[in-house]
Amino acid sequence: MAKFHCTTAQRTLMYPVSLRGIGVHSGRRVNLTLRGADIDSGIRFLRTDVPAGMGLIPATWDRVSSTRLSTVLSNAQGISVSTVEHLMAALRASGVDNALVELDGPEIPIVDGSAAPWVSLIHGAGTVCQAARRRAIRVHKPIQVGEGDQFLRILPAETETYAVEIEFADPAVGYQRREFDLRGDGFPQEIAPARTFGFLPDIQSLRSQGLTLGGSLDNAVVVDEGLVLNEGGLRFADEFVRHKILDCIGDLSLAGARLIGRIEGRKVGHGLNNQLLRALFAQPDAWSWEYLGLARNPSKDGTQGDRLVA
Ligand SMILES: [Zn+2]
Repeated sequence: MAKFHCTTAQRTLMYPVSLRGIGVHSGRRVNLTLRGADIDSGIRFLRTDVPAGMGLIPATWDRVSSTRLSTVLSNAQGISVSTVEHLMAALRASGVDNALVELDGPEIPIVDGSAAPWVSLIHGAGTVCQAARRRAIRVHKPIQVGEGDQFLRILPAETETYAVEIEFADPAVGYQRREFDLRGDGFPQEIAPARTFGFLPDIQSLRSQGLTLGGSLDNAVVVDEGLVLNEGGLRFADEFVRHKILDCIGDLSLAGARLIGRIEGRKVGHGLNNQLLRALFAQPDAWSWEYLGLARNPSKDGTQGDRLVA
């Protein structure tokens, strides 16, 4: 077996940890437990409130069944789990490759609308390295989705950078742009605390359709006509674009491995995030697996990095 170092190895959780909370869209109370998992098993959700054998849902891009209000994953039996993006971002940024997420309801708790509680929970569990190399997806060709001034693309680059800009008519948000490099250790301070947000008229309309039943000023920033309605105001002047980066990291983690490339987006959302992965994986020559810690050894045609055969 090839030599590997803990810094290039897969990681899982050292101890199980639990959290109880409500789903922002369903309003339902859910008990959730994060557990360690085997090498190469990835992140998987397990619904414990459905008949045995039906509740396992792998956290992969091809399982995304809806992106309307949040990212929803469904398995072949039609069992789903929604609002996975903030927990997925925390797992990804905390370096957790393999974990089982048990929950007794259809939606991940919203907690405070950010990824900070998940980062704390994972930190409390601790992580441990496993005896297998971590692999990454190296991007070889630019891939872009969206149209006009609303787009998301990934470009070949020796980085894991997210450059996102947003523009909303409401002056409380307006135009914001931010870049974040996931290879550093800034996620817990710079990105994780940024909360999800909504505009009061949209929230009222969703409520009338029986949606966002669990939403409140305790788990979202609510904006109305130039004003932030939350008593404590914002956590960052540009909290909105930071949250968009958080969502993008969570949604793109459904690639199943870290992406080596530069991500650039404007007016992004869960739909575009998933479309980008579908477009990337539809082009086999646009990417290749790369095992971290190994020197690159491109093949003669120049399109493939170091593909190891197991
Ligand atoms: Zn979000």
